Amino acid sequence: MQKQLPGLIDVHVHLREPGATHKEDFYTGSRAAVKGGVTFMLDMPNNATPTISIERLDEKVALSKKALIDIGFHFGTNGKNLEELPKAAARSEVYGLKIYCNHTTGEMLIEDQNALDAIFQAWPVGKPILVHAEGEQLKQSIARAMKFGQRLHVCHITQATEVEDVRQAKAGGLSITAGVCPHHLALTGEARERMKGYAVMKPPLGTDADQAALWAGLADGTIDVVETDHAPHSREEKEKDPPAFGVTGLETSFSIIYKGVQEGKLTEERMLEAMYTLPKKIFNIPEQPDTYIEVDMDASWTVGEHGYETKANSSPFEGLVLPGVVTKVVLRGKELMNNGTIIS
Ligand SMILES: [Zn+2]
Repeated sequence: MQKQLPGLIDVHVHLREPGATHKEDFYTGSRAAVKGGVTFMLDMPNNATPTISIERLDEKVALSKKALIDIGFHFGTNGKNLEELPKAAARSEVYGLKIYCNHTTGEMLIEDQNALDAIFQAWPVGKPILVHAEGEQLKQSIARAMKFGQRLHVCHITQATEVEDVRQAKAGGLSITAGVCPHHLALTGEARERMKGYAVMKPPLGTDADQAALWAGLADGTIDVVETDHAPHSREEKEKDPPAFGVTGLETSFSIIYKGVQEGKLTEERMLEAMYTLPKKIFNIPEQPDTYIEVDMDASWTVGEHGYETKANSSPFEGLVLPGVVTKVVLRGKELMNNGTIIS
């Protein structure tokens, strides 16, 4: 059965440009998005040269013009660019501020509590603050969002305890939303043995109990959105010791979640909320008129069988048979994919 659905939205991708175009660029990343039925995505700021100034933002916006789909950006901070934050927030291309409260690469990790306070104060209230915040850092971020009246989006929630923290914060009336990644829903820590570097990312894969809590949280709305955290690396980088952190996700996201629907873990209605309606609402993403995808809901495909669109050329789901094949993508009346073939 062919089904017409809205163009999907992914609010968390790393397209690696500028600085690491051997992993991905805006063109190849957008081809991966089209293959996965995504027509709007939000790119993260932690590039080799991070997006922490208006100058860097302008550079990135210009580079992104070669993408096949619409792209917006999250602005970054190293704690020293406070005067740039209001300017960035005023820009239509910027949809949020990303703060790294836990281990990350580069200069963007911020653990100093006073510095975090200053950032929450400097960002104009309105567009969300996104945090990579695990465990205790998450509790502190929730308290800080409350103190400064900010909207908080918790990225790639992973642990059962974090689902509970978000549930309680929501019950307490805080304007908080959360995202979950397909790889945390579909894999657990045991995959590390089997898949080596291809199962390595931050935050790491959890336990069976974590996984069950994530599906339950997604089903009951505690977790609002599915976000891929598409973080491509070359095969060499994934196979070296230690492997680079991060996995691809744009091409497989829909099918992984749809598999969950088929297995009764959530409804199709919730799936569309989490992959379209709520990302659009939370990040105030503009309407894309005459935009839709068509999915063969009965067909299945084997991940990697016909290669990949992502330059990373790999997936943590390689070899898996997944349901739901995106056959057509139309953006503002223009066909980007027909009969499964990308038109560029
Ligand atoms: Zn990320």
